[in-house]
Amino acid sequence: MLSFGDNSTQFMGTRRTSGRSVGRNLLRWYRRTRKPLPWRDDPAPYRVWVGEVMSQQTTLGVVVPRFERFVQELPDVRALAGCREARLGRLWAGLGYYARARNLRKGAQLVVRERSGLLPETYEGWLAIPGCGPYTAAMIASVCFGAREAAVDGNVVRVASRLLSLEEGVWDGGGRRRIERFAGELMERTSSPGDLNQAVMELGQEICAKKGPTCGACPVRTSCLALARGVVDRCPPPRPRRRPVDRAVTVVVVRHPASGRVLVGTRREGFLASTVGFALIDTKAEKKMLERIASLAAVEPERPGRPFKHTITHHRIAARVLVLDIGGRAPARARLAEALGLDSADWVPWAHARSAVASALDGKALGQIRARRPG
Ligand code: SF4
Repeated sequence: MLSFGDNSTQFMGTRRTSGRSVGRNLLRWYRRTRKPLPWRDDPAPYRVWVGEVMSQQTTLGVVVPRFERFVQELPDVRALAGCREARLGRLWAGLGYYARARNLRKGAQLVVRERSGLLPETYEGWLAIPGCGPYTAAMIASVCFGAREAAVDGNVVRVASRLLSLEEGVWDGGGRRRIERFAGELMERTSSPGDLNQAVMELGQEICAKKGPTCGACPVRTSCLALARGVVDRCPPPRPRRRPVDRAVTVVVVRHPASGRVLVGTRREGFLASTVGFALIDTKAEKKMLERIASLAAVEPERPGRPFKHTITHHRIAARVLVLDIGGRAPARARLAEALGLDSADWVPWAHARSAVASALDGKALGQIRARRPG
């Protein structure tokens, strides 16, 4: 077993690189090749916090331009705390997993309310911020305040399981603790905890990829037990899969043709709760919803389009689009929104509908409507 406890690694009778040199080689490589990211070049805690939260589960190519716009419009924790739902939804559009934005704002509100706007400076302090788990807390505390806290996520589990040649049980329980111990040992031996956390992360993204790692370019290949044993493709073992849940939903697009507008609001409940978009209901609740709308306005439903497929985490969705054109004067916005399960609803020009909605599901619904009737 690879252990850094004695500052060296014995493997198959060959003396291998010491734990300290794994960290040193990683740092040397990182400082030579690191990707320029806006929150790396200016690592103020607020920026690192936003950047780290945005880049969880979203690729950096998508994150970087949105990060720039986000911090330009909401440059500090007070601006974020006071940001309205619809604006937050617009700034988060394209990043997915909107709950992260909601938690980010909740965290900012807590900092303003309970800490006079001062961001925490310790790992434990960050852990107390809503939406800030051990990984994010460790990353911010190490990068911004030099804390020796290892940030362990899926990338790090993959790299560590290959360095240690772990072919089973790494995702939870004892295996996960072993990986955390390994990362902690690396952390104890470095004078640059923030850079080391980012180096392991970047190695996982750029070199030690899930499929087809480029071991020939790896700065720690001489310490890699999986490479030496020829078992790289077996480390780590696959994650245990959650069973997918099938859902049938209807995207309800309410338009007012006389003014050329469409109703957009914050969904109150369901699996896209708190995201900004069109009303979204279970398909089996369509009839009741239509009755509620018909009691408020003269409405002409179009025939729903063919269902399209969409996936959100473990939900396998069959979505259909129901367009409701409201005739005459539009009823009071609040009553219509109530009937559709929307908060903070607003009529937006049809031409701006895509930029007003946050989720890819809404985007697909719009695409289907426009394909049916361009314009
Ligand atoms: S040698 Fe290959 S498998 Fe091992 S850590 Fe480097 S990239 Fe990953």
